[in-house]
Amino acid sequence: MPEIQKEAGTGGKMLPSHAKVVIIGGGVVGCSILFHLAKFGWKDAVLLERDELTSGSSWHAAGQIHTISSDPNISRLQGYTIDLYKEIEETSGHSVGLHMTGGFYLASNKTWYDYLKRERSKARYMGLHQEFISPAEVAERHPLIDPKHYMAALWDDQDGDLDPSGATYAFAKSAKVHGAQYFTHCGVTETKQRADGSWDVTTPKGVINAEIIVNCGGLWAREVGHMQGINIPVQPMEHHYLLTEDIPEIAAATKRLPCGIDYEANIYFRQERKGLLLGTYEQKGTPWKVDGTPWDFGHELLQPNLDQIADRLEFAFERIPALAETGIRQAINGPFTFGPDGNPMIGPVPGMTNYWCAVGVMAGFCQGGGVGLTMAEWMMDGEPSIDVWAMDVARFGDWASPDWGTVKSTENYERRFVMTFPNETLPKGRMQKTTALYDRLIAKGARMDQGFGLENALWFADGPDDAHEEPTFERNRSFDYVAREVKAVQEAVGGIEIANFAKHEFKGAGATAYLDSILAGFVPKPERLTLTPMLTEKGKLYGDLTVACLSDDHFMLFGSGAMQEAHRRWFEASLPEGVSYANVSDDWHGVALSGPKSRELLQRLVREDVSAEAFKFRDLRQTYVAGVPVILNRISFSGELGYEIYCRPQYLLKLASAIEEAGADLGYRWYGARALMSMRLEKGWGVWTLEFRPDFNAVESGMDAFINWKKDFVGKAATVKARDEGVARKLVTLTIDVDGIDVTGDEAILEGGEAVGYVSSGGYAHRVGKSMAMGYVSTDKAAAGTRLQVEILGEFYDAEVQGAPLYDANGANMRA
Ligand SMILES: Cc1cc2nc3c(=O)[nH]c(=O)nc-3n(C[C@H](O)[C@H](O)[C@H](O)COP(=O)(O)OP(=O)(O)OC[C@H]3O[C@@H](n4cnc5c(N)ncnc54)[C@H](O)[C@@H]3O)c2cc1C
Repeated sequence: MPEIQKEAGTGGKMLPSHAKVVIIGGGVVGCSILFHLAKFGWKDAVLLERDELTSGSSWHAAGQIHTISSDPNISRLQGYTIDLYKEIEETSGHSVGLHMTGGFYLASNKTWYDYLKRERSKARYMGLHQEFISPAEVAERHPLIDPKHYMAALWDDQDGDLDPSGATYAFAKSAKVHGAQYFTHCGVTETKQRADGSWDVTTPKGVINAEIIVNCGGLWAREVGHMQGINIPVQPMEHHYLLTEDIPEIAAATKRLPCGIDYEANIYFRQERKGLLLGTYEQKGTPWKVDGTPWDFGHELLQPNLDQIADRLEFAFERIPALAETGIRQAINGPFTFGPDGNPMIGPVPGMTNYWCAVGVMAGFCQGGGVGLTMAEWMMDGEPSIDVWAMDVARFGDWASPDWGTVKSTENYERRFVMTFPNETLPKGRMQKTTALYDRLIAKGARMDQGFGLENALWFADGPDDAHEEPTFERNRSFDYVAREVKAVQEAVGGIEIANFAKHEFKGAGATAYLDSILAGFVPKPERLTLTPMLTEKGKLYGDLTVACLSDDHFMLFGSGAMQEAHRRWFEASLPEGVSYANVSDDWHGVALSGPKSRELLQRLVREDVSAEAFKFRDLRQTYVAGVPVILNRISFSGELGYEIYCRPQYLLKLASAIEEAGADLGYRWYGARALMSMRLEKGWGVWTLEFRPDFNAVESGMDAFINWKKDFVGKAATVKARDEGVARKLVTLTIDVDGIDVTGDEAILEGGEAVGYVSSGGYAHRVGKSMAMGYVSTDKAAAGTRLQVEILGEFYDAEVQGAPLYDANGANMRA
């Protein structure tokens, strides 16, 4: 049974009347943030806990720790978290009960073996110590496991377990050593913002005014959010683990057993005292307290429901036979909070001032240290030191309603140890947002995915009955259909929906000057378009945007749909007087036409002349297409002649119908995101979240080509330094000598077996008939013609760095 520790936070000390930061919630996450702030110098930080520390999910965690995560940067932060435990133990003098036993991930079938090969590939360039071991070695290291069920296991030295309560206290006490304070039995009942942007935080011990508040409410994250009208789409889920009686082999052993995960059996396990702890994620998850976590819920456990996990126990008995002969000492059922995609939600909440959160942290003992580090860096330096997009609260918008949050968080819980293949789209919470074309495209065979809540077409099958995926790591069944779409775009004309691009509108006399300062590239003249990177103060990429000047003091910026709330937060934080801004992404839907016949099609739908002379590459007009008011941009991401036609959502159906009709004899075909992603590869164009992200600067990513060096802009000093001193890595495009399989992202790029970089994205480039990848490699490996290798599912394939784009190198098609 996990033990509850009790210790007065700051003795009988009075609550201060003011603090720079007030953290609400004394679970592992809040305590880690307090620790990092204090350690880095913000000692005027105060944590408020409604009960004892660890009064949410933290006290009854299983305490297993590991570095593996779907996102490489989260893996890095998990590694940081685990390394931190020694430090906080020393600083606080409080034991965290750490056992660095090492652990393994067991592959009982080819699918999981392939998955682990992908993880191993990531580990190569991340410098993590992971190695494959044979089933016989598994049995040597863990004699209770029956090796006959396994093909191999991935071993990681950095796995182990700890005492969750001890770790939380060690963070809190270390924070105190560094000068911060925490108060227990000091529940926050109200948060009220003053006109100066600071917060009055009400507790039974008085009111404390804070410059910044942080919601670390864990199981009560939703309720703490509601105090400020914020809906956080997280959901506490019931979760079981069992503690066994003593097992004689363990009692007799001299060395603690390693911990492990068996994905197919859906179990995790570790040694606990002289027995085992065995946990599982039920096939059918049970959301807990959907309508809200009661304030009087304390150090309680829920009634176990062993029927829920009976099928998993069968597996466990087979694979660790000693379990079948051992009694269960205790069955734990405790709630903890999941987010819609399983990753934490941290950072400044868009639309709010000085309101931060760190919630939905479902693996607090693997991730809490990294979350604390990131939050402290972000608050103190204005940006985290690595890209934490996978954890940024801004990846959800107001479309992520509480209902949607419950559905998706439950799905995520149930899929925790279930494979999601690269071509797989998840079924729950779909059709949250659709455009007027949804039914029409589905009827044509669209296979949809969801991005920032909005359905968008990935590819088109031969009809609705044919529109299904077969999940695989290899080339998937959309291959020939995507080839057909690419052919239509290359030879005739295709159309793709562009509702999912973000649109940011700026107005006002100061708009040009503001955009000129915040964007690193050129701000266009009226009726022209430019492409530009947007950088942080440290010179990291924070956007790649198309800027449209609608008139002297009126601009529209088009960018990553996923980043729209993050960009909104970014713009609103620096918007000067005299400039108005709005995220108008949902107000503009549309269609992009691409292909040599796109001009002919467009000309049939407009009264004015859109010939090459009259409407040039990077021109824009506010005009009518098919009798519908639009913003018409002459630009394309396919590498062919093309136009983006943005209209208000209520006109989309009319616009699309007119396009289909006018294009019928020109070979018009709808195409989806997969075709677009393929076509941009052979042009060597990067994509936001893959190639372009705050891990890289403009020089590394090649975005420096779009910089206006003659002006001042945010991030200039750092970018000039990178340009003048050179950078250690560069974005490259590679062709790979491989048949029947392509990269999907995050594979290692090697030279002579040594990792020299990683794949940011890739796939099959249909116009040039090659398997391709983009990725970052050491600068000395970035020259065209350099021969390297790329690892795909454990095999090394020869690859060559490309120079000019493989398709239409000088852009003649696009500029035609
Ligand atoms: C059965 C089980 C097994 C688990 N196993 C593991 C594991 O092996 N490894 C792992 O890494 N993770 C594990 N976890 C998950 C881990 O426990 C959570 O990720 C972690 O506890 C989240 O910490 P937190 O600080 O975000 O939230 P919580 O621990 O819920 O803390 C929130 C705190 O905020 C306080 N609070 C709320 N509202 C207020 C208010 N208004 N005023 C003041 N204080 C307030 C609460 O009292 C509470 O103390 C497990 C969880 C469970 C339930």
